[in-house]
Amino acid sequence: MSEPRSLNFLEEIIENDIAAGTNGGRVHTRFPPEPNGYLHIGHATSICLNFGLAKKYDGKCNLRFDDTNPVTEETEYVESIMNDVKWLGFQWDNVLYASDYFEKLYDFALTLIKKGLAYVDDSTAAQIAEMKGNTVTPGIDSPYRNRSVEENLELFAAMRDGKYRDGEKTLRAKIDMAHPNLLLRDPLMYRIKHEAHHRTGNKWCIYPMYDFAHGQCDSIEEITHSICTLEFIHHRPLYNWFIEQLGIFPSKQYEFARRNLTYTVMSKRKLLQLVNEGHVSGWDDPRMPTISGMRRRGYPAEALRNFSDTIGIAKRENIVDISMLEFCVRDVLNRTSHRAMAVLDPVKLVITNYPEGSTEIFEAENNPEDVTAGTRQVPFSRELWIEREDFMEEAPKKFFRLTPGNLVRLKSAYIVKCEGCVKDADGNVTEVHCTYLPESRSGNDVSGLSVKGTIHWVSAAHAHTAEVRLYDRLFRVEDPSNEDGDFKEYINPDSMQVLEQVYIEPSLAAAHTGHTYQFMRKGYFCVDTESRDGHLIFNRASTLKDTWAKEKKK
Ligand code: ATP
Ligand code: MG
Repeated sequence: MSEPRSLNFLEEIIENDIAAGTNGGRVHTRFPPEPNGYLHIGHATSICLNFGLAKKYDGKCNLRFDDTNPVTEETEYVESIMNDVKWLGFQWDNVLYASDYFEKLYDFALTLIKKGLAYVDDSTAAQIAEMKGNTVTPGIDSPYRNRSVEENLELFAAMRDGKYRDGEKTLRAKIDMAHPNLLLRDPLMYRIKHEAHHRTGNKWCIYPMYDFAHGQCDSIEEITHSICTLEFIHHRPLYNWFIEQLGIFPSKQYEFARRNLTYTVMSKRKLLQLVNEGHVSGWDDPRMPTISGMRRRGYPAEALRNFSDTIGIAKRENIVDISMLEFCVRDVLNRTSHRAMAVLDPVKLVITNYPEGSTEIFEAENNPEDVTAGTRQVPFSRELWIEREDFMEEAPKKFFRLTPGNLVRLKSAYIVKCEGCVKDADGNVTEVHCTYLPESRSGNDVSGLSVKGTIHWVSAAHAHTAEVRLYDRLFRVEDPSNEDGDFKEYINPDSMQVLEQVYIEPSLAAAHTGHTYQFMRKGYFCVDTESRDGHLIFNRASTLKDTWAKEKKK
């Protein structure tokens, strides 16, 4: 993953600009979220890109909240966004808000009115849409298009003063009603909305439209490279038009393809539906593609950054296989997480020749991938919990785990020989019996035996219990947004399985929220935010291997 890669197209543009001395060779980007929801993995790409470019070229990156729509924006979202950016490992130079520039934007609007380039329109939204024309028919001028500058100034001031109801008037740019790009057919600049804003309260009842706010904010902050997603490509001429007419700092817009991922949805509107309709427990549900959901699930920030770097950026829409992200997650967790033993589906293993009441302590490596990770102590005794699936009374030839007559190593402890089992009246196995070979003690094995199977275990007398939540993909089809009907019809009904009582080794009792462990042979598990002393909860971040690919091949 650390192999040098060629420059992406934005790096090429930036390097050319630096070479040409554009803007004095300065690089200044921004990440401009609208605080109307929690950030998702697509936003993570944009964050890594904007902050990453600033870092690479010794520039700056602003965090700017694009808060021009009072209806959908909330402080809760602002806080979660700041938290997510920091967690991803980035630090902004400034936190800014589009709403800080409302007065300045208003002045820009006055400038355009005075230049005869903006007018107040009394037409309704429906009338404006009708007069717009379409790709083959030019639009029609509004009857209010030729109002005098004085009248426009007066009406616009009255709009600001709250003299009109929502929708009664708008401010429009006067460009060209026959322009081939429909966005330039006298676009709206301001609309009336009698709504309280999360920062400006009731100070304003007119709010600028995205197109009139975004480029102007970039310009005010002297952003050199304003990077956005492809759907804004047709907005670029308008972005430039406003900047040119106002004669302000010439920020430039560049577009890249949105990040799409299989087996999930990625628009905040859809994610909000999942939350509001109770399909998930909240924005940070570990099955959500949100940054907060992934964090809670145990995905490391480094894995998200690596994913972003590995995939790179494209100029054309595409959909990335979610297993690429899962690969990045496993790659980091394998290097960084401590190993521990936990038995998810327990059955008792009794070592019939081990002295009753005795306990031994084994030193086990915390992480064989990392010698600095140290060791931990794991108690061993006569009765252990093992996974039910690690015993078979009648096993096929290649079953190297416990079946009568087989030798198996208990991880970090002894080799045992399976002797048989005890069953209840219904034929369910209640205990597995074995004998151990004292000379096979791990670290001092003089048995001369080599066995094919190694299984994990937890001493029954020392075990703690925990709740474990197993997660699977939230949707059962690759691209739920592109299927017939509502995307929610494709929710995977088995995306979460709760195991109420899992046995864990005692060293895990002190595990802290947010810490991720490898449960040997079972996957990576992270302590959930709902976990409490006395009621530990682990989320499965990932299996050890890509089990889904195997499923699909069946
Ligand atoms: P959504 O459509 O998911 O609601 P949005 O584009 O409305 O997202 P914003 O808050 O406006 O969300 O996005 C902030 C920044 O993140 C923008 O620059 C936007 O282009 C970028 N962004 C949003 N979604 C993606 C994505 N899927 N891939 C890459 N960048 C994205
Ligand atoms: Mg948006």
